Amino acid sequence: MKEKMKRRVLCGLVAGAMLLSLAGCGDTGNSPAPAGAESVQTTEAQGHNDKLTVETKFVDGKITSVEVLIHKESPSISDLALTEIPANIVKYQTVAVDAVAGATVTSTAIMEAVKTAIQNEGLDLNAFSQAADTSAEKEDDVEKTADVVVIGAGGAGLAAAVSAKQNGASVIVIEKMPKAGGNTVISGAAYNAVDPERQAKHDPPVEDSTDLHYQQTFEGGDSLAKPELVRVLVDNALPALEWTEELGMEYTDYIFTVLGGLWPRAHKPVKPLGTGFIETYLNFADKNDIEIMYNTTAESLIIDDDGAVIGVMAKGKTGNTVTLNANNGVILATGGFGANAEMREKYNEIWPSLSDLKTTNHPGATGDGLAMAEAAGANLIGLAHIQLLPMGDPETGSLSGNIEQAVENRIFVNKDGNRFVAEDERRDVMTKALFEQPDALMWTIVDSHSYPTGDTLNNFNESIDQLVEEGRAYKADTLEDLAAQIGVDPQNLVAAVEEFNKAVDAGGGDPMGRTLFQYKLDQGPYYAGLRAPTVHHTMGGIEINESAEVLAADGSVIKGLYAAGEVTGGIHGANRLGGNALADITVFGRIAGENAAKAKEENA
Ligand code: ADP
Repeated sequence: MKEKMKRRVLCGLVAGAMLLSLAGCGDTGNSPAPAGAESVQTTEAQGHNDKLTVETKFVDGKITSVEVLIHKESPSISDLALTEIPANIVKYQTVAVDAVAGATVTSTAIMEAVKTAIQNEGLDLNAFSQAADTSAEKEDDVEKTADVVVIGAGGAGLAAAVSAKQNGASVIVIEKMPKAGGNTVISGAAYNAVDPERQAKHDPPVEDSTDLHYQQTFEGGDSLAKPELVRVLVDNALPALEWTEELGMEYTDYIFTVLGGLWPRAHKPVKPLGTGFIETYLNFADKNDIEIMYNTTAESLIIDDDGAVIGVMAKGKTGNTVTLNANNGVILATGGFGANAEMREKYNEIWPSLSDLKTTNHPGATGDGLAMAEAAGANLIGLAHIQLLPMGDPETGSLSGNIEQAVENRIFVNKDGNRFVAEDERRDVMTKALFEQPDALMWTIVDSHSYPTGDTLNNFNESIDQLVEEGRAYKADTLEDLAAQIGVDPQNLVAAVEEFNKAVDAGGGDPMGRTLFQYKLDQGPYYAGLRAPTVHHTMGGIEINESAEVLAADGSVIKGLYAAGEVTGGIHGANRLGGNALADITVFGRIAGENAAKAKEENA
């Protein structure tokens, strides 16, 4: 075998940076490699969480391999980008490949690192910048049959798939994105459940009941939810959580109040964001023969002459037709429409305008399931109830960078340094109050109770040190210094914190009317993070009953059609309690799967 000559060029470059070392690398990089020799470039670019180190190999002016050697990107969210982008760069010999949706920063970082490698190699970047031509690769049409077909591989769809399988059904899941997870995997993943064992360990111990959870959910949604669905939610939240634990999901013992959650009953998964849920379900799917078809977009439901849903028509990535027949039924779990500006504008009745607002949602949250369900005769309810959060990154709308840990231990101040709302209020109340502040911007203020060490992570897997380093959070030993850094009046900020601390000491009497407290804000270092309103959750959707069966406008059940998760309406009313979505999608996903599987016995 001919042994390839190898030269290794370690430049460690970010484009435009490190000019001194560039000079040293330039000589080596620009000299042509002998024919057949392999040349290796190791370069860097800024990813989402930190720099990525990428190794690109070249032979005879062609890219033969791209590998991400070092990274700190979030598992599950960036996994696909880390494999697919390098593979496509090599396959198509271009850095102009499609970014992986939901992981665009990671995708772009890999492409940037490879661009630098191409330049270091002394090759013409333009020759590697043509858009990848994938047009000639149309795949064959496909037809498949399963007992249960699930549309959407987010939290609700995967819970439904697992539950259907456990109840004896064969299952196919289709997912329009190249990966599973939807909004679930990028959520903070707080899960509300009355859990006497864990709540007893809280400091101080938490008194709670499913009746209180019911009352807060129902009244917190302006009594517009369907009471029987709220009852199913609160009664099944803990059993469903324990069901995920049996599947391998892990939660810490930490119980907290999540933004707009109104009570300390939120559970925190051990793994970051919603990755634990998705990994747990995918692991089960892998071992139990649940087929997941990615890049497959459901377009319509197949309906028989009696109006029963018997399958799904979908499109594969290359435009091929995918026909899926369902012996028992179809479960719609396509999520909400928070990323669809047109639909937001169409249904919005509450907020001034939502077309220009950013969103926390993944790009696939476009409300596809609603039109499909409507065509099958489903009743859609509560579509005007669109939830905003006061907690978006001002640049991207994303929740990442949010420095709050628990409602009890942070305050909000506006650009003048003044508090303006009870920070334990409902999400809509806080967001409406934020819209009335200068530039609709606010600072979240926490102290070292929330971040005892610099490497303490927020709920989005980011350390506070990292956020400060990136300029996404500010740190100071005193409130006065913090105020100076963020440009708010120091006297106002100090007064706001003093007023809050007085209420913590007294256990009440807060001028804003806040009632949830734990620690005073009195131990530096103090931190501040800037936040803006962002579109978060669409609470309206398909009407279902307690069995997750889809209902027509006359209240009758549409045979063969089930729905679960954000695509449904009637569970949260006009305002969703923080921490109730994970409970909702798990409880109703599980119920939908079980009932769709059982329909097999009924049909037999
Ligand atoms: P939920 O929390 O209700 O599970 P998610 O947003 O987590 O909602 O998941 C919904 C999933 O459904 C997403 O992964 C999304 O890409 C997928 N999806 C949306 N529309 C379609 C469609 N037309 N065909 C297949 N999958 C879809």
